[in-house]
Amino acid sequence: MSTWQKNIRVVEPYVPGEQPKLQNIIKLNTNENPYPPAPAVVETAQNIDMNRLKLYPDPTASRLVEALAKFHGVKPTQIFPGVGSDDVLSIAFLTFFNSDKPVLFPDITYSFYKVWAAVYRIPYETPALDENFNIVAEDYYRENGGVVIANPNAPTAIYRNLDFIRDILDHNQDSIVIVDEAYIDFGGVSALTLLDEYENLVIVRTYSKSKSMAGIRIGYAIASETLIKAMNDVKYSINSYTMNMPSIELGAVAIENNDYYDEVAQKVIATRERTVKRLAELGFECLDSKANFVFARHKSIAGKTLFEELKREGVYVRHFDDERINDFLRITIGTDEQMERLFELLEKYR
Ligand SMILES: *Cc1c(COP(=O)(O)O)cnc(C)c1O
Repeated sequence: MSTWQKNIRVVEPYVPGEQPKLQNIIKLNTNENPYPPAPAVVETAQNIDMNRLKLYPDPTASRLVEALAKFHGVKPTQIFPGVGSDDVLSIAFLTFFNSDKPVLFPDITYSFYKVWAAVYRIPYETPALDENFNIVAEDYYRENGGVVIANPNAPTAIYRNLDFIRDILDHNQDSIVIVDEAYIDFGGVSALTLLDEYENLVIVRTYSKSKSMAGIRIGYAIASETLIKAMNDVKYSINSYTMNMPSIELGAVAIENNDYYDEVAQKVIATRERTVKRLAELGFECLDSKANFVFARHKSIAGKTLFEELKREGVYVRHFDDERINDFLRITIGTDEQMERLFELLEKYR
């Protein structure tokens, strides 16, 4: 092997869900929202003056940051915006996890966490979920270099209440605790109310699921001013202009029209509850979901078989080859019509 070859950073990358180019498929594999963005977002997008693209965007994304601060009742200096929450989480890992001690996150969770840890050379350990796929709080009581909890967790969809989050925080006063709330708008209670008490808490949110804007790439962190300043210092050391002009505008308009998204979330939740019932009739067990997807296993048929069979019929769901969960399918909640097609296909396995 040549010297330059040895100097290449080798990582095993995260594998995103498929984005098939085929028409007429039913896409229930990446937890996108089946409903369109708020009408005001679409209208603003159609009227953005594209001549403005000749200028750099506002590096502070202040229009977006101020709208988010107002919405959440925090100071603008407590918001860090990024290109999807993946960007925000990546900067958070780089900024906060600089200890020799391992960062802790569950064995079954968002699989990107261990990829960031690997690429940034952050030591980590992954305490196992219990047999009911719950996070075991006691596993996070030991010394560590940081903690990352997705709440609701992915891909299990299981939500833990604020007593649980508070317990994790109380036992980790010497670490930064990241709570990834990608799915919090689908029935959970946010840890936002704990921000005043815990200066080491970082909450991460995304526009990709509840705001129907996965395609524009917006996410953000909410935390104490000290932590947000540290994230900005790192960001400005890599790329000052992460947020493009249209996403700054449209992200602000979206949060200013959040009533629309509350209604969308209610529709998704109603469909989810119907889905859980129907899947039970069809021989599936679903973990308790407070997300816009369900994690379900059939009583007798292997996850992979069902995954492939559904794909052949044009219904894409997600399957993970990981041993503990390979009997499960992660099924995004689509429209009622899309779910009907899924149920129809599953009838023959009843
Ligand atoms: C979807 C997802 C993300 C990433 O969202 P983007 O904002 O689209 O980058 C982060 N965390 C979890 C748990 C997710 O499910």
